Amino acid sequence: MDLKKLAARLIPDENLPSLSDCEKAYPPRVLKEGAEVTRLAPSPTGFIHLGNLYSALADERAAHTTGGVFYLRIEDTDEKRKVDGAVESVIRSLKYFGINFDEGAEIDGENAYGPYYQRRRAPIYRAFAKDLIERGLAYPCFCTEEELDEIRRVQTENKEITGYYGKYAVWRDKSEEEIYAALDKGMPYVIRLKSQGDVNIKHTFRDAIKGSITVTENNQDVVILKSDGIPTYHFAHAIDDHFMRTTLVIRGEEWLSSLPIHIELFKVLGFELPRYGHTCSLMKVDGGTKRKLSKRKDPELSLDFYRAQGYYPAAVIKYLMTILNSNFEEWAAKNPTASYTEFPFSVSKMGRSGALFDLDKLNDVSRDELSKLTPEEMYEFLNGWVKEFGTDADRAHFENSGYIIKILALIMGAGQKKRRKDIERAEQSVRLFDYFFDDTFAPEYSFRFDGDTVNGMLSAFAESYDENDDNSAWFAKLKTAAASVGFASENSEYKANPEKYKGNVSDAAEIVRIAITGSPNSPDLCTVMGILGRERSLARLDAAKR
Ligand code: GLU
Repeated sequence: MDLKKLAARLIPDENLPSLSDCEKAYPPRVLKEGAEVTRLAPSPTGFIHLGNLYSALADERAAHTTGGVFYLRIEDTDEKRKVDGAVESVIRSLKYFGINFDEGAEIDGENAYGPYYQRRRAPIYRAFAKDLIERGLAYPCFCTEEELDEIRRVQTENKEITGYYGKYAVWRDKSEEEIYAALDKGMPYVIRLKSQGDVNIKHTFRDAIKGSITVTENNQDVVILKSDGIPTYHFAHAIDDHFMRTTLVIRGEEWLSSLPIHIELFKVLGFELPRYGHTCSLMKVDGGTKRKLSKRKDPELSLDFYRAQGYYPAAVIKYLMTILNSNFEEWAAKNPTASYTEFPFSVSKMGRSGALFDLDKLNDVSRDELSKLTPEEMYEFLNGWVKEFGTDADRAHFENSGYIIKILALIMGAGQKKRRKDIERAEQSVRLFDYFFDDTFAPEYSFRFDGDTVNGMLSAFAESYDENDDNSAWFAKLKTAAASVGFASENSEYKANPEKYKGNVSDAAEIVRIAITGSPNSPDLCTVMGILGRERSLARLDAAKR
């Protein structure tokens, strides 16, 4: 068969680049020995999830700990699944977590290996498909969907491996006449690889993450160009990873089963195989058993969840680092002030199977990381969240940065030996400010004493209150007021003769606390009153009277 003539008929495009033009256009990168070139290659479906962030972090660390390059490639060959704005959303989401690309789609960088949208690289794929046809390593297949379904049905019935291979690859050895007849009839066709593999042959393969694995040779005549002339993932990624000079492909383990196809494609294309590392899936414990995080059941799989809940991005990254490399936690404990970027990340230390993602553990890391911030830094973080997700009242409150920072210093225990770890996420913490503002102060006055006692305590304390008192003077006055309405002013007295008193001094303090904050639990009350100011404090003492 005249394969050149067939290739020209199947791919008649003028001005396709020559294969050597491609090699020249995308020369090997000049990087230092050992530098990794990695990529995130999402399909623009609009849903960027924790698994993507996990992979992206591994890619980014692998590139940036070796002086390499991390780039963004958009795998947009499936027009149906494309969502507008998805690329911007990937970039924005990753940036929020501090992960930045050096080059790629919509990135200000060198970008010499672009375009980074697969749809814009069609001539390159078509040139290589044409070459494979000319070399007898690819051929057109005119099977209809119904015919393929029938093949699958027979294979399933015979308990055979499904797919287009061997005797089932009906167009593999068709004659020239049959092929041209189909073309003349205008029948739609795809281009398939003419596999040279043998499933009886197995090879040992070194996965950068999973270590040594056995792969069986491919014998499937997979589609490389779809009927619309657009390449499949298999074909496009092989060509792109070669010409973008990727050294390490980190991707989900769901691709492991396609690895034999990819190994064969690189071979027939004459490209050196990059290293592959297949990441394990993120799992959670649900009802005592471990299962994969699911898009449908687990809101925490979506990255939008972390933004909306106001997770501190650095805490999410730090937690992911503990899953990525099990020795990270120990390193971080030894280097409490160091950034995760100083950690000697290693792809080969990544988990080989089911990484457990535990939201409670993330919350612990989050509280811990946030407790290290200064009140000013905390303000910046919370304000960012409030601007996007807070209520109008939150936004108005946060305009008063000085006031919020004073509250934060109190809530966080700034300046004290032991920092408090009450703040877990922005969404939860913003509510801690509500009682500091009159418009969101919504007390439920549930006093444990009768009206006269409450009123007496509040009046006596209000009369003696002086905003210039320090903590101990403030407390002395509280005790005096307590004693004046029948509470014990010392705990020891109360313990000795409980029947003589209405309660002890902390019961009396609770009355004031409820009046001021609306709740029997609050941070240091003297400081709370100082932040609220004299006028507002006295008004609250008065308003709480029964
Ligand atoms: N576009 C593929 C996906 O979104 C990328 C897989 C890869 O990283 O090679 O799953």
